[in-house]
Amino acid sequence: MTSTTGAAGTTGTFCPYCGWPDDAAPFQVVSRHGTAAGSTLWTRCGCGSLQVRAVDDRGARVVSRSRPADVPFSRAEQ
Ligand SMILES: [Zn+2]
Repeated sequence: MTSTTGAAGTTGTFCPYCGWPDDAAPFQVVSRHGTAAGSTLWTRCGCGSLQVRAVDDRGARVVSRSRPADVPFSRAEQ
């Protein structure tokens, strides 16, 4: 088993920053990219942590996530 982020890489994981379940709404879908294996989904947790999810025919799993501080908050745009 390999793990670069400390996350299990399976469903049922939680955001380490706010404790929110990764599979629970609401989370914001930032973008989606097709890959050879399926697609990659970028989502943002309610705390601002950006998550990268690998999506294939077996479902989605979080493969990487950023700290909330790494994400510019959009308040300035409003
Ligand atoms: Zn979070």
